[in-house]
Amino acid sequence: MNYLKIESSSLSNGLGWRVVLWVSGCSHNCPFCQNPETWDSKAGKKFTAKEKQLLIELLKPDYINGLTLSGGDPLFETNRDDILKLVKELKAVYPNKDIWLYTGYTFEEIKDLELLNYVDVLIDGKFINEDRDITLAFRGSSNQKIIDVNKSLKNDKTVELNL
Ligand code: SF4
Repeated sequence: MNYLKIESSSLSNGLGWRVVLWVSGCSHNCPFCQNPETWDSKAGKKFTAKEKQLLIELLKPDYINGLTLSGGDPLFETNRDDILKLVKELKAVYPNKDIWLYTGYTFEEIKDLELLNYVDVLIDGKFINEDRDITLAFRGSSNQKIIDVNKSLKNDKTVELNL
């Protein structure tokens, strides 16, 4: 898996102060996507053990709520194995820090992926320009949902967070 950027602290990609990993690779081709440079899975640099260690260090401070995975699409086919390993390891180190994940897939399309068991909040769906709404928290268009993954998996239906 390749990545483009690691942000050490952000307030705009989920609740509270967050570390953000921007991965490469996306096949959704949303018109008016703000980050088309992230579509190529070979863009950026290889995500290695060094970057994983950096994330562990950046997540350490108490004021950091957790990690946000964005892109690109962390669930681009060739990213999934590496994302699974990453979220498993980070949850083992920091069970009380939350993991948010942005994807162009809908919850229904990816709900059977093992990695979802290690993700707390999913922002799902493609960006749809006709549904663009700048008043929405943490997402660009109104079709996208902010999903409580644990509750959704337990109830086998999408449970949204009211943000
Ligand atoms: S899912 Fe996100 S990164 Fe991919 S094309 Fe759509 S808006 Fe762009």
